[in-house]
Amino acid sequence: MAHWRGFTAMAADPPLVIESAQGCFLHTQDGRRLFDGVSNLWCNVHGHSHPEIIAAIQDQVRRVSHITTLGMTADVTEALATRLADITPGDLGHVFFSSDGSSAVEAALKMAFQYWNQKQNPRPEKTRFLTLGKAYHGDTTGSVSLGGIDLFHRLFAPLLFSCLRVPPPCTYRLPEGVDVGDALQHYGDAIHDLIRRHHHELAGVVMEPLVQGAAGMVTHPPGLLARVRQWCDEYDVLLIADEVATGFCKTGRLFACQHEAVTPDILCLGKGLSGGTLPLAATLAGPKVFSAFLGKASENRQFFHGHTFGGNPTAAAAALASLDLIERQDTSRVAFEKAQLLRRQLASLESHPYVGDIRGRGLMIGIEIVFNREKKQSFAPEHRIGYKICQAAIARGFWLRPLGDVIVVMPAPVADPDDLTRLAIAIGESIEEVTRHPNMYASSEHARGATMAGGAS
Ligand code: PLP
Repeated sequence: MAHWRGFTAMAADPPLVIESAQGCFLHTQDGRRLFDGVSNLWCNVHGHSHPEIIAAIQDQVRRVSHITTLGMTADVTEALATRLADITPGDLGHVFFSSDGSSAVEAALKMAFQYWNQKQNPRPEKTRFLTLGKAYHGDTTGSVSLGGIDLFHRLFAPLLFSCLRVPPPCTYRLPEGVDVGDALQHYGDAIHDLIRRHHHELAGVVMEPLVQGAAGMVTHPPGLLARVRQWCDEYDVLLIADEVATGFCKTGRLFACQHEAVTPDILCLGKGLSGGTLPLAATLAGPKVFSAFLGKASENRQFFHGHTFGGNPTAAAAALASLDLIERQDTSRVAFEKAQLLRRQLASLESHPYVGDIRGRGLMIGIEIVFNREKKQSFAPEHRIGYKICQAAIARGFWLRPLGDVIVVMPAPVADPDDLTRLAIAIGESIEEVTRHPNMYASSEHARGATMAGGAS
């Protein structure tokens, strides 16, 4: 076992080994062909090995594969920065590149911190961040500090800085006495209250807009993001939107923020930025933030942060090719339509005795399996229901990966409609197969609360 894999019990069964992948299908070393039901951890936009992206990568590698952004830059990286400035919401015109989502968030945190220190009329006392319960923003120390998933984050507490935190704005598990119609008011009040009481020390609010992916596709009440934007303006707090998971068409718009006409002060992108082909991430800021960093060398106002491979030209070329495809093929609309289709196919599962909730936005879908629908009671974690259902789906030719007992379904927008129909059927059969003998899970009667997330993103 030379390869030590992340979020993986290394004494567990050996992994699937992929030899090649084409479109939405993975080809394993042992001869299987599996539909990629989670676009390889929420990255892939145009399917695997898209010829136009391959051609762009090949062409770039022939010209120059890597150039530092310290002291120089590559033409293709400049072109990508301009393109991102054009297509992202509002005035987000300044793009800082890194290689993965955690780094994009880490950069956002330090950017916000440094901003308050050196803006005109500095406010160095604004050092804290407000985050959502069950948040997941990555695995570096800063992004883990923002995180709120016990299993991943609690162990590291002594290493972390403290954040202000509100309950996850979950529309499925609402507190007693709050019904769905009141969810926006209820969760909004909690956020508003903390901002109102702590704005003097708050550098920023960090949130995944609309859907908290790794939390178990926790879906926010519509309108929440727009309200948070309003309060951040009112109380002079930066809004940092982490669109590492939601970005690049998955919610049915290019960016989730667009659903609520919101421009964050800082935007984090990753995963689908390169079409899901090469490691590339970005942290974008508007003129308000950027102007605090603008200065001559003697002024020492520059952002004191930078990664060796940030803005890598090969990854930038892949991203430009992916953005060309998104534009030409209207991928956001395609994603929206495929999501409608898939949700229709999954609708019959809504009345399944062990399906508690089917939620999400666009092609970010979570199916939560519960032991008791009425009480929204989870199976005891040791039964690993989510894992078993995904294994049953793999046996049927569909690769899925759960988050605890939430079955994540996030195919690439290019997926063939017939394959989506087959995927929905396979999910239904797999749930049926695994939950057929619920008596054997009697110990779940004693399980309490929710296991909204228990696996890696
Ligand atoms: N932010 C969000 C919302 C994510 O979902 C993830 C990964 O799943 C990250 C950040 C971290 O990205 P990466 O794994 O590329 O570091």
